[in-house]
Amino acid sequence: MQVPARIDNWIDGSSRPARSGSVMDVVDPATGARVCSMAAAGAADVADAQAAAARAFVAWGARPAAERAELLDRLADLVERNLERLATLESIDSGKPLALARSVDIPRAASNLRFFAEAVRAWQPDEEYRTAHAHSRVIRRPAGVAGCISPWNLPLYLFTWKIAPALAAGCTVVAKPSEETPMTAAALGELSAEAGFPAGVLNVVHGRGPECGAAVVAHPSIPVITFTGGTETGARIMQTAGPMFKRVALELGGKNPTIVFEDADFEAALSGAVRAGFQNQGQICLCGSRVLVQRGIYERFRDAFVERVRALRVGDPLEAGTEQGSLVSQAHQTKVSAAVERARAEGGRVLCGGRAPDAAALPERVRGGAYWLPTVIDGLPMGCATNQEEIFGPVVTIQPFDDDREAVALANQSTFGLAANVWTGSHARGMAVAERLEFGIVWINAWLLRDLRVPFGGVKRSGVGREGGDEALRFFTEPKSVTWPA
Ligand code: NDP
Repeated sequence: MQVPARIDNWIDGSSRPARSGSVMDVVDPATGARVCSMAAAGAADVADAQAAAARAFVAWGARPAAERAELLDRLADLVERNLERLATLESIDSGKPLALARSVDIPRAASNLRFFAEAVRAWQPDEEYRTAHAHSRVIRRPAGVAGCISPWNLPLYLFTWKIAPALAAGCTVVAKPSEETPMTAAALGELSAEAGFPAGVLNVVHGRGPECGAAVVAHPSIPVITFTGGTETGARIMQTAGPMFKRVALELGGKNPTIVFEDADFEAALSGAVRAGFQNQGQICLCGSRVLVQRGIYERFRDAFVERVRALRVGDPLEAGTEQGSLVSQAHQTKVSAAVERARAEGGRVLCGGRAPDAAALPERVRGGAYWLPTVIDGLPMGCATNQEEIFGPVVTIQPFDDDREAVALANQSTFGLAANVWTGSHARGMAVAERLEFGIVWINAWLLRDLRVPFGGVKRSGVGREGGDEALRFFTEPKSVTWPA
């Protein structure tokens, strides 16, 4: 697999190093080895990208939606044609199993592009209203240059989830992927030229969050900011963007419950809880990291859960059959390790995992990697830090509840409110529980089941605004009301 020797910014239809000449290392977390270097962009590069995007906006924003959709479809075709290359880059960059990148991340990136192509073709942005006295038309026009900032856990998947609706709606884009995982976003910049996107429509700037990301947020002529990442970073973004009156959507962290009732299909709930807890090494904002199980089946479920988790195959992300790859970085592994130590100090009982794997148990190629064994902990109250703070790694707590009321109370005992998954044999019970859960997303007998038309996002410290479907298209447009006498 050819990893590029250097990753540069993609500005105005061509690759450019940072104006300052600064570079940083890109590391494969599964091996600990440096794989290439990357431009470390700053405010001057962001200004270049914004200027290119502003020039391109004049024509792009005026182009018929069907033509923009056509280009998004062509880009989706290219993502699919490059599936193997993109999946491998994603795996090397993030440590996730290649099989997961191949079956989930990259196909879903293509489907994001296709979905918004289709959505904008069908979209009727303008509205008409009449009363006895007045006739009004609401016209929606693209908002201008959009700043799209995305995280490392699902790199191309979440990058496209932001840029696709922005481009479909007629915005041009300055996008900033995470410095941990720049490779597929860089590849997408180049593929956008191959698809026929005009120069300046999609610009990608690489670099550190507090420099490059912060410059995107602070630029006075980037009026729309969409951000996915940590809650603390989201708060910082609001502090800058708020006084500038920018439109901001924030998709932030989660501490999500998996709720298993006694009447659930035991096997389906078990598989669902393992997948929800540990897919992508638990590094998905939607992961169910607090498993709540009704008391009548608690011990049986807990024991079966631990057995399944212990059996997850931890190994080289590039090898077929690996179910758990490396964490995204050594620094993140240190954070996860500290969180597990804190859980022990809080009185938690580690039922499996709780440490990095022995080097000898790993294939030689990845012995320097940022690994952590999938970990299950019981015996902790809901109020403790382990159950309140996001760990964003392969660490799940499990605890019993008595009835529906207690399940809902425990689930809602969180400052986050992103996603819950509920397992029950009764759809009516699932719906009744869903009504009372303080979360933006609830799955019944499922996890990460997507319909891209429905609003996606959280409440409380999990964010502001919703992505997905027409919500996203509306976000990237500015309405204007025109009224005249009837
Ligand atoms: P961060 O908040 O650290 O980073 C997210 C992005 O913001 C990265 O591109 C980062 O750049 C950039 N960034 C960092 N600091 C700033 C700043 N001051 N101004 C502007 N941009 C900045 O999150 P992680 O990448 O660590 O991702 C993990 C977090 O994301 C978790 O909390 C997780 O729950 C959340 N998340 C939420 C999702 C949702 O949909 N709600 C989905 C996926 C993740 P750099 O990496 O270069 O520092």
